[in-house]
Amino acid sequence: MIGYQSITMLKCSACGSVKVTVLINGKPYCTYCGAKILRTHLVRTLLNMKKEGLITSIIDVESYEDP
Ligand SMILES: [Zn+2]
Repeated sequence: MIGYQSITMLKCSACGSVKVTVLINGKPYCTYCGAKILRTHLVRTLLNMKKEGLITSIIDVESYEDP
């Protein structure tokens, strides 16, 4: 219960929304910013894997990057 109460008082680290639904690296984020950050993180991880030859270059990871 204490954990639930404390998360409702948090604000999104990115946009300041009080509708915090997720914690990423200990920082609170709303659904929108959380999804955006996870997506960016995933693309970065995939790019690193591609650089190290862990995934095939056929996968066009770059096209998923934000402009
Ligand atoms: Zn947000």
